[in-house]
Amino acid sequence: MAKIYYDRDADLNLLNGKTIAVLGYGSQGHAHAQNLRDSGVKVIVGLRENSKTRATAEKDGFTVCTIAEAAKQADVVMFLIHDHMQASVYENEVKPNLKSDAKLAFAHGFSIHFGQIIPEANHDVFMVAPKGPGHIVRRMFADGKGTPCLIAVQQDASGKAKEFAIAYAAAIGAGRAGILETTFREETETDLFGEQAVLCGGISALMQAGFQTLVDAGYQPEMAYFECINEMKLIVDMIFEGGLSWMRYSVSDTAKYGDMTGGPAVIGEEAKKGMQQLLKNIQDGSFARDWILENQTGRPRMKKWAKAAQEAPCDVVGRELRKMMPWMEAKEAPKF
Ligand code: NDP
Ligand code: MG
Repeated sequence: MAKIYYDRDADLNLLNGKTIAVLGYGSQGHAHAQNLRDSGVKVIVGLRENSKTRATAEKDGFTVCTIAEAAKQADVVMFLIHDHMQASVYENEVKPNLKSDAKLAFAHGFSIHFGQIIPEANHDVFMVAPKGPGHIVRRMFADGKGTPCLIAVQQDASGKAKEFAIAYAAAIGAGRAGILETTFREETETDLFGEQAVLCGGISALMQAGFQTLVDAGYQPEMAYFECINEMKLIVDMIFEGGLSWMRYSVSDTAKYGDMTGGPAVIGEEAKKGMQQLLKNIQDGSFARDWILENQTGRPRMKKWAKAAQEAPCDVVGRELRKMMPWMEAKEAPKF
């Protein structure tokens, strides 16, 4: 069973007099910076020279400096910039400027686990990874609640890295909800697997295949969209509230019977083999290698794929249907 810590286990005094440099002011960056500050911690924000988010961070009242300057002043450097940019930022701007006992912190294990960043032995290296997007991390905190967090320690130079990680996690509100202990390896591999096999890759492919099956059989695309895509939210909300059994309790008996017979017919042995292969590619580092190479070559495959995905029939139908429901505050992704 996972070890879970709460506010009562956290010693916030560990953060007294410490300067935390939050690198990046995006989804996670703004939430960590604001929650830490509200918990009485001294925060500076480190951004690149031409940063789009500099004005926002300054408007929110933060001292913004270059990444090199932030690293110089910091007792803790929290990396909240894109994972694929972290290694070069570390090498060029952070490493040459670090205090000898500065701690390095991450919200995802990719850079450390796959050896993109190899910190020197005198630094604590820990993770505080909220299990939710940044705007939720901030909103929950402001409402007096919290978003659960994972913590992990990769390198314990001070002998107190775990206590420090728990204190940091509590300072961003996670001690109200639960701070789960894991390792960089477990967090990285399960996170990548989840987004590939289920959350992003799996679910999009499942919904699109369902939509296409109905459309190919001559049903109206609008019907297919509502059935196979739009209704997903209602089902997932029920699973979120009470697990699969609450969802099954809530749907009709006919739907339950269809669930029992249909699920295994769609996600059978072949799908499970596909999942095992994805996991293997993550574990042996080949996924990480491919992704790093894709970035180094200007993302040719992703650019092609993203454009095609945006023009997929199900997204075109969905866009039209949402226009008829103005109360939905429909979102539109920027065009590729
Ligand atoms: P965002 O894309 O929201 O923000 C990225 C930030 O990084 C921006 O402020 C951007 O600044 C800055 N940045 C990008 N490239 C560079 C660069 N080369 N040099 C300096 N700054 C740069 O990222 P997230 O907040 O989503 O992700 C941050 C970390 O948090 C990642 O490790 C991610 O895995 C992790 N995480 C994310 C979660 C999420 O739900 N979003 C959940 C849990 C963890 P600029 O304005 O200059 O472009
Ligand atoms: Mg993820």
